[in-house]
Amino acid sequence: MGIEVLEVIKQASANPGRQVQEWKQRTGGKVIGFLLTDVPEELIHAAGFFPFGICGGSVRMDRAEVHLQSWSCSYVRNSLALALNGKLDFLDGLIVPLTCDSIRMVSGIWKHNRPLPYMGNYRLPMQVERPSAKKYLLGELERIKRGLGDYRGKDISEEELIRSIRLYNSNRNLLRKLFNLHECNPDVISNKDLYTVLGASMVIEREKLNRLLSELVKSLEDKTKKPVKKTKLYLSGTFINLPEILDYLDESGGAVVGDDLKNGFRYIEADVAETGVSPLESLAIRQLKKIPFAGYDVPSNPRRYNLVKEAQRKKAQGVLFLHLKYCEPENYDYYDNLQALEQAGIPSLRIETEFGETSPGQLQTRIHAFMEMVGGENNVREKEL
Ligand code: SF4
Repeated sequence: MGIEVLEVIKQASANPGRQVQEWKQRTGGKVIGFLLTDVPEELIHAAGFFPFGICGGSVRMDRAEVHLQSWSCSYVRNSLALALNGKLDFLDGLIVPLTCDSIRMVSGIWKHNRPLPYMGNYRLPMQVERPSAKKYLLGELERIKRGLGDYRGKDISEEELIRSIRLYNSNRNLLRKLFNLHECNPDVISNKDLYTVLGASMVIEREKLNRLLSELVKSLEDKTKKPVKKTKLYLSGTFINLPEILDYLDESGGAVVGDDLKNGFRYIEADVAETGVSPLESLAIRQLKKIPFAGYDVPSNPRRYNLVKEAQRKKAQGVLFLHLKYCEPENYDYYDNLQALEQAGIPSLRIETEFGETSPGQLQTRIHAFMEMVGGENNVREKEL
């Protein structure tokens, strides 16, 4: 049963556009896309729209390169290229979080070249530990809620938002269970399948996905296989955008036991409180308490401490940095993060990737060599492989 459900999820996530178009035809509803993974999807869902996470796709980049500098990151270039090549024509709206200079640029260019009926920006507080951050973020969330309500012609009610928060909490909870099953016994679900299912949650109708996930989790929980010993790894960076990397880890006996990636565990960590404070305040609190990310951080860079703490807690034998070329915020924090790992005696390997990269084969050798190194008995500091 588990394998069949997994196949359904994998097939659906392999063609997200078709999923969404089918949903549109069936319901007559509207689809709101979003970039990166911090946009409050619960608000989009509460308005009755389909939140669609734009997270890469196969497309020629040349049309986007006409508009964007060559040093803008490939996530931004790839997302714009998808739009300019008509691969996101099912979108009725778009929300862009203003995280860095690259994404700030794409917001205006998109609006100018592919205007959509609803277009909004999400201005997250950059210094999340400031006392004013929560008040500011609440104002932003209120503004987005109002904008989505105006677009559908009716305010989003508190009941609608609470219903959506519950649905998303249950989705996050199921995905965390899956991560936990993988951590306890990596053979139950491979690294690649684990992250494929997580990616699917950004593009498949949540209600349907939760039903599938419940079945999947239940069938995997029933498995009583003896855990196999694998080399434990922690992933750190922005995106896991090349599934081949997970293949290389799978084939070299690696088990990912945690990550701080935007389209990884960071996306599903912690729930939005369902009682105690207003739903909007709950959304703000969750955002501010998320695993620190280079784009929204404080000068002391607490992410490095989180990285070391989590890698140690999960008994990771090494950290694999997955950096997107030209991701300035990520590059800026790297040396702090590396130094913190070195002080803790945790070996690491940094690889740079790009969206749209077609032959990452050379990474295979580096990843295999790193796995061999950290899988041994001695902890060795990072060296250029
Ligand atoms: S934060 Fe990094 S990955 Fe995200 S849009 Fe900016 S440059 Fe690209």
